[in-house]
Amino acid sequence: MLDAYPWQIASARRLVAFNQHLPHALLLHGRAGLGKHALALSFAKFLLCEHADKATDACGACASCHWFMQGSHPDMHILQPSILDESDDSEAKKSAWISVEQVRHAIDFVQLTSHRNGLRIVLIYPAEAMQAAAANALLKTLEEPPANSLILLVSDQAAKLIPTILSRCHLVGFDLPDEAVALDWLQAQGVSEAQLCLKLAAGSPLRALNLADADYQTRRRALLTDLLAGKKANALALAARYAKLSGAEFAQIILWLQQWAQDLLATKLAGRVYYQLDYAEQLHSLALRVKLKPLQLWQTRLQQAKAAVAHPLNVQMVLEDILLDYLNLFE
Ligand SMILES: [Zn+2]
Repeated sequence: MLDAYPWQIASARRLVAFNQHLPHALLLHGRAGLGKHALALSFAKFLLCEHADKATDACGACASCHWFMQGSHPDMHILQPSILDESDDSEAKKSAWISVEQVRHAIDFVQLTSHRNGLRIVLIYPAEAMQAAAANALLKTLEEPPANSLILLVSDQAAKLIPTILSRCHLVGFDLPDEAVALDWLQAQGVSEAQLCLKLAAGSPLRALNLADADYQTRRRALLTDLLAGKKANALALAARYAKLSGAEFAQIILWLQQWAQDLLATKLAGRVYYQLDYAEQLHSLALRVKLKPLQLWQTRLQQAKAAVAHPLNVQMVLEDILLDYLNLFE
């Protein structure tokens, strides 16, 4: 079977079965942190493998497999935002988007005859990094695909793709794995707080693995401890501590605050927490002191802050407001 995570066995079988009648365009879609990109690579390696009697996986030994493992297969083209391209160190040109120019380059590639008289593959990840112009440039190729070509798109946010792209791809959806399978895997990776990390990652196992990072947990707990101090904490001093945050760090703080708010609400309404299993007891006693309406208003406030994360005008001021509002919840 293809190299796959334990929760991808059915998806891997489904992909392998396409080998009989390969569509010209496949879109693997689902939440981030499920390993779709890794499975797409392993599928591409399988398709390009020269071993004639390959059954369910690449042989790992032929010239094609060797090229693939070295990242230099002449019939494989990877289309990704330059920000993800670690081999390119020209910082100045780094972008989070896939440009029209990159798409045109990929189209030229796929229209050439294959190096080995076989298949040519373009892997696009994340597909939502193509803005309208780039997506439109790809569209013509999806409409009139060259023979022996596969456009393999992978997306964490397929809803952001233009409908004409979606309608021309064969869709393969990825669901969240069963909790037990994800927990087994996380424990096998040495994650000690597997259940907590999986909750914080909203069920995505690869994301949960990242969140098991000790530094991440230390920063999360530092903020939550401050929040727990409730009324006694000084919102201004707290905001000042987080004043010099980058956009990404600010987004992280907002996410933690949102999870905190949702857990307060869930505790109040349903008597249980969703995310912070390690603070369940403290959240229960806090929830008794908070009123429903102001809590919902605070959630709306966090939602607005999240929307503005890309352009935080003044991180310190926004955080001061949010934290003051938070303290007022307990008046
Ligand atoms: Zn091979």
